[in-house]
Amino acid sequence: MPRVIIVGGGISGLSTAYYLAKGGVPSTILESRPRLGGVIQTERVEGCTIEGGPDSFLSVKPAALELIRELGLADQVIGSNDHLRVTYIRKRGRLLPMPDGLMLMVPTKILPLLGTRLLSTRTKLRMGFELLRHPAPKPGDESVGEFIEEHYGREAVDYLAEPLLSGIYGGNPDELSVGSVLGRFVELSNRYGSLTRGVLAERAKAPRRHGPPPPLFQTLRGGLGQMVDAISAAIHEATLVRRVRAEAAERAGSGFRIRAGGDWLEADRVVLACEAHSASALLAGLDPRAAELLGAVPYTSSMTVALGFNAADVRQPPDGFGFLVPKKERQSLVACTWIGTKFPYRVPEGKIVARCFFSSGEEESAATASAERELLEIAGIRAQPVFARAFGWPRSMAQYTVGHAARVAEVQARAAAIAGLYLAGNAYEGIGVPDCIRLGRRAAEAILSSRPA
Ligand SMILES: Cc1cc2nc3c(=O)[nH]c(=O)nc-3n(C[C@H](O)[C@H](O)[C@H](O)COP(=O)(O)OP(=O)(O)OC[C@H]3O[C@@H](n4cnc5c(N)ncnc54)[C@H](O)[C@@H]3O)c2cc1C
Repeated sequence: MPRVIIVGGGISGLSTAYYLAKGGVPSTILESRPRLGGVIQTERVEGCTIEGGPDSFLSVKPAALELIRELGLADQVIGSNDHLRVTYIRKRGRLLPMPDGLMLMVPTKILPLLGTRLLSTRTKLRMGFELLRHPAPKPGDESVGEFIEEHYGREAVDYLAEPLLSGIYGGNPDELSVGSVLGRFVELSNRYGSLTRGVLAERAKAPRRHGPPPPLFQTLRGGLGQMVDAISAAIHEATLVRRVRAEAAERAGSGFRIRAGGDWLEADRVVLACEAHSASALLAGLDPRAAELLGAVPYTSSMTVALGFNAADVRQPPDGFGFLVPKKERQSLVACTWIGTKFPYRVPEGKIVARCFFSSGEEESAATASAERELLEIAGIRAQPVFARAFGWPRSMAQYTVGHAARVAEVQARAAAIAGLYLAGNAYEGIGVPDCIRLGRRAAEAILSSRPA
């Protein structure tokens, strides 16, 4: 039986441990934080379910739902309240609804686009004429900003792409790689020329479904922490969790030794399921070039602040899922979600909870004060919060900058050449929870299939 060490007890490492245990292989998780789950952290505050990190996952990516079903939590899956889905964007001091029919920043309906005050007439015309674009595939990668500007103009970058991507990646569209972040759009653009025509053509080809479309986002009734708890319970017997930081890794015979908490731990297989900057430090002695490439993956810090209000104190109840603040209009608040509107079961009757997202590592007290001040200024919330809870995530969100796919391919090829070493985590093929689960599972499957028969 191979001795397996997994560095990192976030959802990537937990998924690896789960699928290893399922295949009959025990493992040891090294986790430097006092709890498992990484950035997934759910708390109950005054009857409200508060997500400190991710609050849901995209339903179109199957890995999360597959794992949830295996954990026996299928009956706990809930969808977002899509019938209430309106997202507002701040422009010149006002909250304006995003026009209906947008697929991210791609318009698919004419009338709402014509009617929106979010975009100027010039941008609307530009978006309309985009339909006439001919395919002109470009070699290599470019930034999301360049790509969207070429299709729809700069205002579409500033008031659609930037706020949407800041809310997901905490990142800058002029730095993010279009190939890695919007790969499907690049394919459509190469094929159809017009992104709008491409999206419409794909939609027309999709099999007709009966009934309402599935919700865009899904989650668990008790929050994503339910998944962490269920995995922890499922791996309990097969997995040893050590609350230590892995500090260094070396080759030892055909295996490895890892220095952690003053001890050297031996392993036949090692899965680095931690952030790229941490994996970089561990790879330094094994493959300096891979370490250098991983060390160059930028990470942003973020913070969420949940503010709870008595509904009776809030004069004008908030509308829709929440709002995004484009960089051009931003002080420090990037996005706000009205939790009780976005998901059922999260906020009891009589309460309103705002989840405020910041894309820098502010002090908790400063972020809480900014959240209160900007909610008043932007959404007119004068009420005093009855609770505030802040969660800081330093250097946790990987940024897929231009050229990311090529760098990752090189890292993965180099890692594959080190027998017994595997990489998982949010630095490679997707930052969302489903992609992290998929990579964790892939590492486990590779280990299981490498067992001697
Ligand atoms: C605020 C926020 C909101 C998000 N919202 C969403 C969302 O709604 N939907 C979605 O799909 N995704 C979302 N994401 C992204 C997604 O949650 C993460 O990319 C994913 O959970 C990362 O999981 P992970 O296990 O790879 O990394 P992490 O959760 O970061 O876990 C890595 C773990 O490794 C540990 N570690 C690192 N180095 C070492 C070491 N040397 N020794 C021991 N332990 C170590 C760390 O302590 C950490 O616990 C969000 C992320 C953040 C921060």
